[in-house]
Amino acid sequence: REFVEISIKDIDQVANSSFPLCMRHLFEKLREDHHLKHGGRMQLGLFLKGVGLKLDDALAFWKAEFSQKVGSERFDKEYAYSIRHNYGKEGKRTDYTPYSCQKIISSTPGVGDHHGCPYRHFSEENLRAALGKMGVGNRAMEDVMDKVRNRHYQLACTLTFEAVHGSSCDAGINHPNQYFSDSQKILHP
Ligand code: SF4
Repeated sequence: REFVEISIKDIDQVANSSFPLCMRHLFEKLREDHHLKHGGRMQLGLFLKGVGLKLDDALAFWKAEFSQKVGSERFDKEYAYSIRHNYGKEGKRTDYTPYSCQKIISSTPGVGDHHGCPYRHFSEENLRAALGKMGVGNRAMEDVMDKVRNRHYQLACTLTFEAVHGSSCDAGINHPNQYFSDSQKILHP
């Protein structure tokens, strides 16, 4: 299996070019608020593990953000454990796998949560704005919105992938980490 590894220094650039909308949203909110609630930490944290962010880099990445909000001591005390836990270094030492689209789409984000699938959980207005920011043009946007209205969220994500990469994605998107690796294959063949 092909293994792509990312480091913290190029994470912003990689997020911008190859993260699906669900992860871009979490990533932007984390940078903006220096905080994410549990559901968001799990969804983004396991995705980042899946794209090859090493545990030490993951700890440094989350700490840099969270310590701006809660201080580094509280980060070490309350949050570092769950990151090590995601990497199977605590508790039952289960190696947790990143969430699939199906799991993310069926999640139920509450007020103040940023996890979930934007195609399902965003308002139409917010979704259009987010797609515009990704560079999805008018025609493609209407095709995406059409899929969303018919509750075909993964197809909506697939059309977004095709619009921003100018390249087809025949298999369709069924996992955020697949979106990422397919994107990297196109950008760095
Ligand atoms: Fe993320 Fe999957 Fe939704 Fe795309 S379809 S935004 S990869 S959960």
